[in-house]
Amino acid sequence: MLPRVFLVGAGPGHPGLATLRAVECLRQADVVIYDKLTPAALLDFAPTHAEKIGVVELGADHVERSQPTQDLMLAHAGQGKIVVRLKGGDPLVFGRGGEEAQALHAAGIPFEIVPGVTAALGAAAFAGIPLTHRKHASAVAIVTGHEDPGKPESVLDWQALARFPGTLVFYMGIARLERIAKALIENGKNPQTPAAAVHWASTGAQQTIEASLAELPLVAKNAGITPPALIIVGEVVSLRPEVAWFEQLPLFGKRVLVTRPKQQAGDLVTKLAALGAVPIVLPAVEIREPMDWAAVDRAIADLQRYDWLVFTSANGVYAFLGRLLHQRRDLRALGQTRLAAIGPKTAAALRSFHLFGDLVPAKYQSEDLAAALLEKIKPGARILLARADRGRDVLRQELAKTGTVEQIAVYAQVDAIEPNHPALDQLRRGEIDFITLTSSNIAKAILAALDDACRQRILSGRTRLVSISPVTSADIRALGLPVAVEAKTATSDDMIEALIEWQKGG
Ligand code: SAH
Repeated sequence: MLPRVFLVGAGPGHPGLATLRAVECLRQADVVIYDKLTPAALLDFAPTHAEKIGVVELGADHVERSQPTQDLMLAHAGQGKIVVRLKGGDPLVFGRGGEEAQALHAAGIPFEIVPGVTAALGAAAFAGIPLTHRKHASAVAIVTGHEDPGKPESVLDWQALARFPGTLVFYMGIARLERIAKALIENGKNPQTPAAAVHWASTGAQQTIEASLAELPLVAKNAGITPPALIIVGEVVSLRPEVAWFEQLPLFGKRVLVTRPKQQAGDLVTKLAALGAVPIVLPAVEIREPMDWAAVDRAIADLQRYDWLVFTSANGVYAFLGRLLHQRRDLRALGQTRLAAIGPKTAAALRSFHLFGDLVPAKYQSEDLAAALLEKIKPGARILLARADRGRDVLRQELAKTGTVEQIAVYAQVDAIEPNHPALDQLRRGEIDFITLTSSNIAKAILAALDDACRQRILSGRTRLVSISPVTSADIRALGLPVAVEAKTATSDDMIEALIEWQKGG
């Protein structure tokens, strides 16, 4: 029988650390049951119709700790649905995957277990602590830190752990760190053994502290280390200066608000995360179908009439060519019509339809596109501008100087900020370092949604505004707020470059 329930390891926090099999399982899920240790970005792999249920796990001592989640899983699987139980790290390492598999077995429900990168491995790689090393450690022990070493009923043999010839990794032990260190030292472990605590390993929120075993509890307390965190004890911790790489990334730990529409945020989010930042997505605008396709359909019906078809965004390309196909026409409808794209992203969108832009200006703003077109087009040419239902009018005005310009709205853009979005609270609390503003419309939508507390954070320099171009910067300044970082060529890559430069200098 095919599995109905998948017990899937989601990895330690970085969404890229989920396995390919985890993604395959999510793609076929009817129900995803996840908890706070699983990266939210993975939920996007589940179909939109899938029910996504967040569960809060009860304290480890609670008698009913896993029952409600187990019941939920059994109930949904019993209804014939495909259930993915997504778990932080690996399902069988302190994940109670074993118990859940037993319950499924007892209920006669077929299941599959998908391993994940357990937190110890995530922390090892991202904090630069090789768990084994030919010179320093030939064994690793994965230990629960949940046991109170002071209690007589502790199931752990602290003498054996103190003598263990290798690296010790404690899960769930931060609250009991002092007692753990004491128990190890009392049982003979050298108090000078290098040790570390790693909070939220593999994410932009990662925090690593190092000290001798004897001093680690105080250092962790002073640094305010909270769960989820691992404690790693062993000589290998001393290799961090050579092996650590993640915390050295240029945007490490910076919280960066991404304000693009959800479907388009992915690229920026991935790039920021690869630079060590914590991207937070707050879509400022949403892309919708235009209210009325009539004008677009008329243009499509007689496309060859136009000498130039001009696109000012990748969205415009997808919307226009999508509509063309919807009308059961294909690329031949374009005939000899020449194509202009405002910048590299728009040109790339054209290429995805096997089309080359005949013109892409050297700089990517309406003024530059207009200037480049004016050099190329013949007087009296017919120009079709495919664009959003709102935006600047520069291009039409400029082109109208030599040709006949027809402007069609191939998509609508609406403000879309959810008033209760948690990112707005983070802004108020001053927890966001940068707000990226990737168009004038986005800037206007975001800035209009900010209350006084948020504006104050920007004015005081706690939160900085990052603008994609001088035009967007001018709009931001007109709204009374300062721009800290500005891209010169209006691409998001350039914006990230500018942000890295600013960060180096600041
Ligand atoms: N099944 C999980 C462990 C669940 S127990 C796994 O294989 O990783 C929960 C404990 O895991 C936390 O208390 C913490 O000690 C550890 N943990 C999980 N994710 C972590 C992370 N990203 N960084 C540090 N510790 C983490």
